[in-house]
Parts: sequence; C-alpha cells; structure tokens
Amino acid sequence: MARLFEHEGKRFLADAGIAVPRGGVASTPKEAYDVARRMGKPVVVKAQVWAGGRGKAGAVRFADTPEEAENLAGAILGMEVGRFPVRTVLVEEKLDIEKEYYVGVIPDFSRHVRSPVVIFSTEGGMNIEDVPQDKILKSRIDYAKGLPLYDALDMASSAGVPNKSLQEVARVTARTVDVFKKYDCRILEINPLILTRDGKVIAGDCRMGIDDNAVFRHPEMGITIPREFPWEPTEFDVVGWGIDETDFRGSGFAMKMTVDEVSPGFIGFHAIGGGAAMVGMDALSRVGLKPANFADTSGNPVASKVYRVAKLVLSQPNIEGYLLAGFIIANQEQWHHAHGIVRALREELPNRPGFPCVLLLAGNKEEESLQILREGLGGLPGRIEIYGSDRVEDSDFVGGRMLALVEEYRKEKAR
Ligand code: GDP
Ligand code: MN
Repeated sequence: MARLFEHEGKRFLADAGIAVPRGGVASTPKEAYDVARRMGKPVVVKAQVWAGGRGKAGAVRFADTPEEAENLAGAILGMEVGRFPVRTVLVEEKLDIEKEYYVGVIPDFSRHVRSPVVIFSTEGGMNIEDVPQDKILKSRIDYAKGLPLYDALDMASSAGVPNKSLQEVARVTARTVDVFKKYDCRILEINPLILTRDGKVIAGDCRMGIDDNAVFRHPEMGITIPREFPWEPTEFDVVGWGIDETDFRGSGFAMKMTVDEVSPGFIGFHAIGGGAAMVGMDALSRVGLKPANFADTSGNPVASKVYRVAKLVLSQPNIEGYLLAGFIIANQEQWHHAHGIVRALREELPNRPGFPCVLLLAGNKEEESLQILREGLGGLPGRIEIYGSDRVEDSDFVGGRMLALVEEYRKEKAR
C-alpha cells in the first residue's frame, strides 16, 4: 500500500466536495509563519509523515500567533515520528471542536464479505482499535453503487449523530466512499471528522493509502515506489525498485531490511526465488547473522539484471559477507546468474580483501554454471565458497559456512 501525506489526501477530499480546514504546506519555519499570517487566526501545525499517532508524539501543536507557528514549525521540522523524518508541516486554521467522529473505508477480504466496508463511530480522535465495539458501526458496500445517501443517513442516525448534523455527516460519509473508489484506495480514514461549534463538518485529518497494483492509474499522485515502507525509501530502495521497471526479462528486486546496520552480523543477501529467500533467511538467523537487505532474482532473468542486483547488494558499506541463496533446484538456466555474479564480484572484491562470499547455485545447466563461477572468480582476493545441488537442502551447512568465514574475516580485520 502506497501512503499519501495528510495534505495530499485532503486535497482529494476537497476535490470531492468534503470540507477541509483552510491552510497550507510549509517546509521551513518562515513558510509556516507566512501561512499562519495569511490565516489571521490561531492555527494547528501538523507534521506530514507516513505515520499515525502524531498527536501523541507531539507532532500536532497549536499556535495563537504567526511567531508561535514559526517556532513550533522549527521544532517539528527535523523531528522524527516513528522512523520518518519530518520534512514538511501542514499549517491549518485551528477548528473549534464540538465533537470528533470517525469515518473510515477499508476492504474486508474475509470470505463472507469480500467488499469495501465503511466504518463509522461517534468516538473519533483516537485509534479506532481503541474504540469499544459497541460504539462502532460497519456497513458493507456494493462496489458498483457506492454508499447510497439513505444508508449513510441511517448509519449516522443509528450512531447517535444529532439531527442538526445528520445530513452533512451522512453526505461526507457517502463521499468518502466515492473517493475511496475513485482513487483505488486500500484505506481512507478521516479521523477526526470534526463537528465545529458553529455546526460545520470538516475533515480534521486524512489517512489515504493506494492499492499498490493501482498506482499506475494515478500518475498525478507522483508515487515513486508503490509499497508501504517502515522508513523513507533509501537510495538503495529506489534503485532496487527501478531494476524491474524498465526490463521485464525475469525479475530482479532488492530492498533494505534495516537502515541502521551498526551492530555486526549483517549480510548482503541475494536469493533466487521466494522460497529460497525464506530458507536463506532461516540459514542466516539460525547462526545469528542477519540480512541487511532482501533481494531476489528469478523467473529466468538475464545476466545484466542479476549483475545489477548483486552490485546493489554489494554496495552496502557495513555488510560482513555476501550470500547467494539459491536454495532451490531452479529450472531456469543458471549460467545467467553465474555470469552476472562473476562480473559483480570481480568489480567489487578488489575493494574488500578477504570478504566472505558463499554462493549456492543449483538447477538447470548447473555444472556449467558452477564452472563459470569457479573460473571467473579464481584468484580474487575474497573468501569464496561455491556450492551446488548437493547442498541445496542443507541450509544449516550453508549458514555454518557463512558464519565461519565471517568470523575469520573479523579476526583478520581486527589484526
Ligand atoms: P494523528 O494523531 O496523527 O491522527 O493526528 P490528527 O490530525 O488526528 O490530530 C490529533 C488530534 O489533534 C485530533 O484528534 C484533535 O483532537 C486535535 N486537533 C487536530 N486539529 C485540530 C484543530 O484544528 N482544532 C482542535 N481544537 N484540535 C485539533
Ligand atoms: Mn488522526
């Protein structure tokens, strides 16, 4: 799921006729000052990050004057919420809250539902997971019809929304479903939906996530990687994602598994296929080593693709070894892998004398492939061990060899 920032989601809500607070985005304290001044009234300054719980983290703060907004923006910009650095803030008019509601739409994949479900609660402003079940209303959505206004009215009135706001709350709920459909959302949440003291109904927050497979239909969103990341995509992630974007011959993908490889034991990880990746990860974790990244080249990729993935894996400065985890008898011709790996290691190993490399490759054209590896890597200054199908089911052995080489390498470097 690709997440959007609050201010992006609110723009789509506004386009659909849902009221949002007046305001603007700022990436410097000075810009925050300018927006607050333009508002001419107290404002709220909100960190724009792909993480919830900003309120609790102190990343949603209130300012009475532009000077105060400037100071708060200074404090919030540069904060980290979850593992996301705050690069922009949203400065909005502060609303005078009478009541906070919750409106959300998510797909329910369970067998007896299989449709989007709209969720409504009069207890907005907190995590919906923390709201008691009897305060939550849910309704299935017929995807073709959306949420008819009479159903939305029914929902809001059963929830106990007072008569004077019923029409508007129902209208917003129905339109939220429209927006969910229009942008192929995986989640669309307005929490809180604010009822102001002067009777307006305004989206106070917006969490919007797009189905990865539908991102291509929405180029206007400018999403670079259609995946939900636990951190901002690193350069590694962007390069890893791009490998398959322009070349469809087999698949090659790589992403970071951690962004702080400060502790020892991280290995550059390169699997051939998803099953092999799982076995390879087990092989590492059973001996106390950790994958610094995930990478997978499969579906009969060309050597150039294997090479790019291997180069990317080997570009990680703090890894203590490289594991080619071919824990599968692949029916693809493995010599493409052999060629790609040879070239990558020939370029990289001279910069890393003694670097541990355990290479397991099995499957079609195996003998020829292992021969390519042996010949191509002969004489390089690494600790290189090459295995074939006789070890394909022996993950303990392969993990053990990786660990043994890493320990030798550490001793050598400590000297
Ligand atoms: P989240 O914690 O990341 O979900 O951030 P929200 O945007 O939901 O803000 C958290 C809380 O801040 C809301 O539930 C409100 O109680 C409060 N809040 C946000 N905007 C305003 C506002 O304009 N006026 C007032 N009085 N409170 C607000
Ligand atoms: Mn919220």
